[in-house]
Amino acid sequence: MSAFSYNVNPARIVFGLGAWANVAAEVSGLGCSRALVLSTPFQAKDAEKLAAELGSMAVGIFSEAAMHTPVEVTEKAMEAYEAAGADCVIALGGGSTIGLGKAIAYRNDAPQVVIATTYAGSEVTPILGQTENGLKTTVRDAKILPEVVIYDPELTVGLPVAMSVTSGLNAMAHAVEAVYAENRNPVTTLMAVEGVRALRDALPGIVADPSNVDARSEALYGAWLCGTVLGTVGMALHHKICHTLGGTFDLPHAETHAIMLPHSAAYNAPAVAHEMQPLADLFGGSIGGGLWDFAKSLNAPLALRDLQVQHADLDRAADIATQNPYWNPRPIERQAIRELLQRAFEGSRPE
Ligand code: NAD
Repeated sequence: MSAFSYNVNPARIVFGLGAWANVAAEVSGLGCSRALVLSTPFQAKDAEKLAAELGSMAVGIFSEAAMHTPVEVTEKAMEAYEAAGADCVIALGGGSTIGLGKAIAYRNDAPQVVIATTYAGSEVTPILGQTENGLKTTVRDAKILPEVVIYDPELTVGLPVAMSVTSGLNAMAHAVEAVYAENRNPVTTLMAVEGVRALRDALPGIVADPSNVDARSEALYGAWLCGTVLGTVGMALHHKICHTLGGTFDLPHAETHAIMLPHSAAYNAPAVAHEMQPLADLFGGSIGGGLWDFAKSLNAPLALRDLQVQHADLDRAADIATQNPYWNPRPIERQAIRELLQRAFEGSRPE
């Protein structure tokens, strides 16, 4: 056994069908009584329903959360928080809404209760990505970690199938990178492999029947595990390249992860074959090809060109993805990254 150190993120997790009914008790448990409920415009109705359930405990609703946590939206939400005399936030939604709750907490240390409705995993990380003047920066701080996370599979039944698939593959990407992370430990590896296993088993069931609550439960359980390792260990090539592509070409978050995952996994596999073996075993023995086959079977997007990336952009993407050095189990070689991008652009199956 290699030496390791392990910092556990201190959060309370409440999981189960109907768990969202506990939200008032969870707010009280934090010593709070005046919540600002957050959502995107798309989930505004759900936020209103939640606020109605909470009665006087919900002192306001702010339904303008947006992708990549724009600072101007956060500033507006801070004003709403102050005006309502709130003492905590309840974020109901996926990474965009959770990002807004984190951005508020980063500024005023507001306690956060999150009701997570996608598989992206942001709810269990102390990481906040925010954008200002078109520039995305990432901060890590203990204040950013939500205090309570409620996972209620019932609230994920409305997540459209295509989004469930890409969000699930996005979650898997955290776990794939966690098994070879420089600062991994035996417990994060257990969580990562189990998280991928759960999502591998669950996603086909969701595609077959989006209202299958057992599959929804299994997927949310997997997403929790995958998010937890994202918040605990460092990420490498896959997350860097998705960040680069997403930021430079304004690509959708989960779809970009879904397309890139088989290719980044195949790139790193030769360098960390032993670490990736438990994952390869879940996908027929080959991690890159196996993940690609799995994504294809779910009708996931496979090609960057379908996200409006132009062939002429690939050289620039390869330059940007290789210009700032970062840790990766296999050296980052410009030519090999350019070839990886070509395969991802075309949507061809990696070996
Ligand atoms: P999202 O939060 O942007 O959600 C996409 C859309 O789906 C939104 O309109 C949302 O309201 C809707 N939606 C969410 N759940 C739904 C449900 N159950 N039913 C119906 N509609 C639903 O998407 P996401 O992929 O969860 O989050 C992406 C964002 O999260 C990105 O900005 C990404 O950078 C960030 N993120 C951050 C971290 C972190 O640790 N900081 C981790 C993962 C993702």
